[in-house]
Amino acid sequence: MILVLIETEDGQVAEVSLESLTFARGLSAAGGGVPIDVVAVGELPDPARAQLSSYAVRDVYLAEDDAFSAYSGGAWASAVQAAQAATSAVVVMAAGTNRGCEVLAHVAARAGVAMAANVIGFQGLAPFVVERQVVGGQVIEEMVLDERPAVFTVAGHAVEASPADAPGAATVQALAVSLSPADLATRAVRTVPREGGEGSGLKSARVVVGAGRGAGGPDGFGPCLELAELLGGSLGVSRVVTSLGWRPHHEQVGQTGTRISPELYIPCGISGAIQHWAGCSSSRVIVAVNTDAEAPMVTKATYAVIGDMHEVVPAINERLKSR
Ligand code: FAD
Repeated sequence: MILVLIETEDGQVAEVSLESLTFARGLSAAGGGVPIDVVAVGELPDPARAQLSSYAVRDVYLAEDDAFSAYSGGAWASAVQAAQAATSAVVVMAAGTNRGCEVLAHVAARAGVAMAANVIGFQGLAPFVVERQVVGGQVIEEMVLDERPAVFTVAGHAVEASPADAPGAATVQALAVSLSPADLATRAVRTVPREGGEGSGLKSARVVVGAGRGAGGPDGFGPCLELAELLGGSLGVSRVVTSLGWRPHHEQVGQTGTRISPELYIPCGISGAIQHWAGCSSSRVIVAVNTDAEAPMVTKATYAVIGDMHEVVPAINERLKSR
């Protein structure tokens, strides 16, 4: 059995969780059609249930207790453990989000097994060898997961989410979870939306326009902000930019900022230091704009425009506005 912890967003299964379910289907096929079960915490609206059927999920174990109304990594881990016990799953997986990684780290530690984060593929089942991104995606590591359950998270965009050819009829079952006070020792007590919502969409944005030191100063971000608006995306910046006070910290992308996984990332005047790359390496397509053809961001990008961002970005904006 394969057990997948899912997350929801606006009443739907989160895109990253759909990617995990697609990844799980590949594993299932390699294992001769092993069933895929899901564990979910909190409400599971009808649209999400329908999505799970279209991804050929067999059973959904739903932990709805009031104790789950506020997020707690320990409590979610107990829900995953309860579902794992109910299904005898030999593989337990989740999307490589902050929550997915936190919860499965608890699960692995309690089970006394290793956990692999940021998995992008697998090579074989016996032994079970996964490939995962390390050092911010700079290095791909092969890891043998020979303990059971095998516990891992799937990196954003490791696979493209796609419904199954033959949908299932996901059956939802109430999951009884007994929680200890220790499970709830660390929990979210309050969620405060960022004032004005500025930058709040960075993590889930489909398009992110990045701006770094190349912007030249606090007044150099106008064209990048305009490009983000034209593409319906968000602005993300490098740490130099936030350290210099040119833009607020919540816009920072990277190891000590937000980790993004948009369809399209357009880093302008950003060198691509490893700490920045750690936060953007899961982008599906990267189009770098930089004056330096040797900059790491340029050499790693899908496409690059070698030129001055103060000329290139306004030119792109004009072209977009004329269409
Ligand atoms: P630079 O490295 O100075 O690069 C500027 C780039 O702009 C160059 O490639 C240059 O060719 C190009 N350029 C200049 N002018 C133009 C122009 N007119 N048009 C086009 N291109 C131009 N950094 C992060 O971003 N996020 C993090 O989370 C983060 N965490 C860190 C954590 C630690 C512990 C440490 C030590 C560092 C961290 N850093 C982080 C900093 C990181 O190491 C780099 O210093 C930073 O990312 C560099 O920012 P930058 O690319 O904007 O600037």
